[in-house]
Amino acid sequence: MARSSFSLFRLFSPVFLCLIIAPLGCGGGKVETFSEPNILLIVVDTLRADHLETYGYSRKTMPIARQLANEGVQFDNAFSQAPWTGSSMTSLFTSVYPSTHGFLYNTLGGTTSNFVNQNLVTLAEALGEGGYHRVGHVTNLYVSRKMGFAQGFDKFLEHEHLADADAVTSAAINDLNGWAKKSESPLFMYVHYMEPHCPYSPPADYKKTFESESQPLPPTYKIPRHIDIGSRDLADYRNSYDEEILFANDQISRLLDELKKLSLEENTLVILTSDHGEELFERGNFGHGRTFHDEVLHIPLILRFPAKIPANKKIDTIVELVDVMPTVLDLADLQAPEQMQGSSLKPLLQAAPKMPESPEDRVAYSELFIKGPPRIMIRSRTMKAVCVTEGEPHLTSYFDLTKDPTESNNLVSTLDPSESEALVKQLVQWRVARTKQGAPYQTGETKSLTEQELQRLKDLGYIDDEE
Ligand SMILES: [Zn+2]
Repeated sequence: MARSSFSLFRLFSPVFLCLIIAPLGCGGGKVETFSEPNILLIVVDTLRADHLETYGYSRKTMPIARQLANEGVQFDNAFSQAPWTGSSMTSLFTSVYPSTHGFLYNTLGGTTSNFVNQNLVTLAEALGEGGYHRVGHVTNLYVSRKMGFAQGFDKFLEHEHLADADAVTSAAINDLNGWAKKSESPLFMYVHYMEPHCPYSPPADYKKTFESESQPLPPTYKIPRHIDIGSRDLADYRNSYDEEILFANDQISRLLDELKKLSLEENTLVILTSDHGEELFERGNFGHGRTFHDEVLHIPLILRFPAKIPANKKIDTIVELVDVMPTVLDLADLQAPEQMQGSSLKPLLQAAPKMPESPEDRVAYSELFIKGPPRIMIRSRTMKAVCVTEGEPHLTSYFDLTKDPTESNNLVSTLDPSESEALVKQLVQWRVARTKQGAPYQTGETKSLTEQELQRLKDLGYIDDEE
């Protein structure tokens, strides 16, 4: 990594002072003595915001999300920088957009993949510079050691392919307790759950929790060839997706209960979010990684940190995954690496509830380089547009979200040409600028995937022989 541009471990940081004066009564190394917050980052893969009751869903799929929101801050309009794991998680972990970090393709020539460039400073590295002990638990190849996500972790445990949330939670709890016994430095723990990613196979106890009338699949639908649809109909898909969320809920609750038992709630920043959502045949498609509709980009983002941020606050300003890293570093009072393109949300978190939050001036960007030509999406609170940037750049869709929140009426052909051209120009310039900023990180290197790894990606629906 490029460490020369900044130094995060400040001589007079509270951690350092606490360690120096510990023998004089700073708590003798007990975990509560650290001034920096512990940080627990929980990523629930493929979790669309609108399937959580705290975001308005009718089913109680994730009560723990509502509890965290009641005890902390919920962002109602958080968006992912890409509708698939590798690209979006790199944005979360480095605070740069895909055009800059360069993790753009999941398979190149069918057998190689991009990965996180070593020159990027990851969240784990930045927290390591700040004196944190860093532990990661993952089950998705796209956030594996091979893909560069172990950068900066002291311990990075790759669970077996599609390991259940209970196995991941048990291991994370072990690590939490092991760290608490030593408690030599504040903790950063990253736990990445694979429920509710397909294939949907909730444990037996969860099956039939949610039932609804049978609904046929749409007459024409797209589904990755390697996903076995069996005899499922549309209702089965949506019910089992929700049951997987409920399973993740119970495991996240178990992990947070452990935090409480250790009396760590007050000074721990808990972040609950996702890397992207899921299409559940709203437009005939299943899965993610193809489109930019809200079902695949609108994600939950909830932060709880009783010591420093208010409770029961909802913020409707548009925010992005690239904002997570600056926010964490800001709340931990650590210096930020220069590469970051996101913004700290701390001012929003700590603003008085009735203070204007200037929601109109923020937009979200998302990018996609797979399953079609390179394209970019811009979304404000009132509009969404998608632009193909290859060849003759042009808009492929434009939605007026004030009149059409479900993105059903593509207005691209009715746009005034000058308006359309201006938007295309803006988006192409945005991408050119981000790509230039990415020069140090885009070495063109790729990682070869083994047969077993390719099969794992097929299991997850990422590789479709038809495309
Ligand atoms: Zn994912």
